[in-house]
Formats: sequence, structure tokens, C-alpha cells
Amino acid sequence: MSGAMERPRRRRADALDVVVAGGGMAGAATALSLAREGFAVALVEARQPRPWGPQDELDLRVVALAPSSAHLLSRLGVWDALTDARASGYSGMHVWDAESGASLSFDAAERGQSALGWIVENRLVQHVLWQALEAAGVRVECPQTVTTFQAREHDMAVTLDDERVLSTQLLVAADGAASPLRDMAGIEVRGRGYAQRAVVAHVTTEREHQATAWQRFLPGGPIALLPLADGRSSIVWSMPEADAEAVLALDDQAFCDAVGVASDFRLGRVTATSARAAFPLRLQLARSYQAERMVLLGDAAHVVHPLAGQGVNLGLRDVAELRDVLVQARDAGRDIAAEHVLRRYARRRRSADTLDALSFDALSRAFAHSAAPWVGLRGMGVRLLDRAGPFKRLLASHAAGR
Ligand SMILES: Cc1cc2nc3c(=O)[nH]c(=O)nc-3n(C[C@H](O)[C@H](O)[C@H](O)COP(=O)(O)OP(=O)(O)OC[C@H]3O[C@@H](n4cnc5c(N)ncnc54)[C@H](O)[C@@H]3O)c2cc1C
Repeated sequence: MSGAMERPRRRRADALDVVVAGGGMAGAATALSLAREGFAVALVEARQPRPWGPQDELDLRVVALAPSSAHLLSRLGVWDALTDARASGYSGMHVWDAESGASLSFDAAERGQSALGWIVENRLVQHVLWQALEAAGVRVECPQTVTTFQAREHDMAVTLDDERVLSTQLLVAADGAASPLRDMAGIEVRGRGYAQRAVVAHVTTEREHQATAWQRFLPGGPIALLPLADGRSSIVWSMPEADAEAVLALDDQAFCDAVGVASDFRLGRVTATSARAAFPLRLQLARSYQAERMVLLGDAAHVVHPLAGQGVNLGLRDVAELRDVLVQARDAGRDIAAEHVLRRYARRRRSADTLDALSFDALSRAFAHSAAPWVGLRGMGVRLLDRAGPFKRLLASHAAGR
């Protein structure tokens, strides 16, 4: 298509540049990011987010945010609100294999950083983003769902459940792993269920967490102890479905004992636990991140194993890439929803996400074997990696999102 043909037509004053469907962490960050760049943006979210307050009990759902996510949230002007509220920076990471005993450590100081990452509540991240939406000029439609959409020659018609129709150049589907919009666009996914669930809880341990993220690989799946701001640790313990059922059914004392054993008492005995919850785990990648006048982003595009703590970090990298691609197109006077513009975003992010998703998948498989020769090899590999400076630096840079 020639540049002249792509030039945007004059649009109605109420027409939007971008409609974002889904106001979770990825969707809210997209809406805010694009509004800050001067686009006319509406955010459509089905459920009113639960408000966050400093007196509230620490939410069970937490994520480890990588430096790349911190950078994006700083650029959006919400990082200070997040860290002032309740974030726990960690400067160390220690990963070890239960079977071979081999371990791998990372230290922020060695890398000239203040932190390797931050543990924050999902609800708090969403809260600080939503607090900023209105001032940035985002039109918030909530509670409201996108029920249908249709790409037309010069715009996309997005119908809400109260039957209003929004006219937009581009529709961003950030509506989560089960993405109804992805299905409506006819985009298939590939992947597999892990037949595993992640049991999460906040636990009190005998010893301090030392601002370190601990992760022990067991044949059934890894257990992570992530340092929380109040001194407790948040556990993410991946295990086969049936084991998860059994662990959820334990009384508190037995659960604490089981977490102590699983973590090899690295932080001493576990003396108390919060309520528990469990989440099914799957690997899922959309076959394409793009349809006519539409892109997928966040969990709508990719779902990965939580062992590397990267799910939302990948989603926020999608946000940064989409912002850059759309700003560049607009500044060049191009249609921001032109097929080749969206292709740039879709290709770049899909190949990066695929590489990450498959690496996490390979990692989960590699640690699932407990046959002796395999354990020996794995132990050797981990020890080598820990000593091989350049490889280790590369791994740390990648996890940080650089
Ligand atoms: C146990 C566990 C631990 C994890 N740990 C980490 C970690 O340490 N680090 C990390 O980076 N990631 C982690 N993740 C992954 C992370 O939680 C997800 O990647 C992230 O929550 C996905 O955010 P999202 O905004 O893409 O989707 P969601 O949070 O699912 O948001 C989608 C939103 O879309 C709305 N919606 C749905 N349909 C419609 C519609 N038709 N119209 C309008 N709105 C709609 C929904 O109401 C919802 O609010 C973990 C995941 C699990 C399960």
C-alpha cells in the first residue's frame, strides 16, 4: 500500500484512536501509555477493580516485576506511588536443584543494580495505573464488556454490552488468558496444560528472607519463596494437580511443615500461613498477535509457566513495543492500524515471547526428571552456568528485560 493511501482520514471528534479491552495490569498500562503519547484512548473493563488500601491485608496474588517493567511504570509516572505503597525490592536470587544440590545465585550489587526485581500485589499495580487513567484523559468504560467488533474500511466498530458502538482505529485485546476477543477474531492458540497447579500463600518463616528470592526445583515442580514487604515470604509452589488437592486440604500446621520440607528449611521452620489458593498452569501462545485493526497483548497473547516470574513482565514489554510502533507510525503520518504497522509489533513480540515461553517450558521439563544420569548432567550444567560469568550475565540481563 502506498504512503498516500495510508494517510488517516479526517475523523469525527468523538472517534477514538485506540480501544483497549481489559483493564488488568497489561490493559491498564497500555491505555495509560498510549494516552500519555497523545492518542485518544478508551479502556473497557468488565469488572470494577477492587480498591487497594494500605491497611488492607496483603493480597495473595503477587508478581515479581523485572527492571524493564519498573522502567515502563516509571515512564508512566506510577512507579513512586507503587513503591511508596507496598513493594518489596529484592537484591538476591538463589535457585537450587533438590536432586543434584547444584545452585545458581544472582546478586544485584554485582550487576551494579539496586534490585533484581520487586514483589508487588497485582491489585496494587492495577490500582496505581487506574488512579492515573482519568488525569491522562483515558475514557473509562467500566463495568462494561466488548460484545462484538467489526473492522470497516476506515475504522473498527466496537459494540459494548449496553449496545453503544465506539468508533476506533485500533482495538487492543488485553482481556486475559481466556480472551473472548481472541476467539471472536478467530485466532487460535497452541500450547498445553501442565497438569500442574501453583499453590500460593504468604508464610512466616523462622529466619528472615534477606531480600532474596529463593527457588528450589523439585521433581514435581519448583517452590519459590518471594520476599514480601512485611517480612513474610510469598510462596508459589507448582505441583501436579492431585498433589495440589492434597496440599490445599492440609490443616495450617501440616501445610507449614510441608512448605518447610519442600523449601529444605532454607528459611528455617515455617511458623504461620495465610489462606491458600491454587491456579492451573498452562503454556499458551496465540498463533498470531494480529487481526484486521486489532492486536493481542498480555495474557490474551501468551501464558507462560510462573517458574521464571515473567508473565506480566512479557505483557509490559508488549505494551512498550506497541507504544513505540504506534508512535512511529503516527509521527510518520501513517494509519496506526495499517496491516504492516501492526505486523511489526506482532512479529517482534511474538518471536520474543515464543522464545521465552519455550525456554521456561524446557526448564520445567529439565527439572522434572529424577533419573540418576540426567540429575548428574543437570547438576553439572547448573554449576557450570553459575561459574560462567558471561552466560550468567546474559541470563540475568534477559530476566531483567534488557
Ligand atoms: C501463580 C502465578 C504466579 C505468577 N507470578 C508472576 C510473576 O512473578 N511475575 C510475572 O510477571 N507474572 C506472573 N504471573 C502471571 C501474571 O499474573 C499474568 O501474566 C498477569 O496477571 C496477566 O495480566 P493481563 O492484564 O494480561 O490479564 P488479566 O489480569 O487476566 O486481565 C484481563 C482483564 O480483562 C477483563 N475482560 C475479559 N473479557 C473482557 C471483555 N470482553 N471486555 C472487557 N474486559 C474484559 C477481565 O475482567 C480482566 O480484568 C503469575 C501467574 C500465576 C498464575
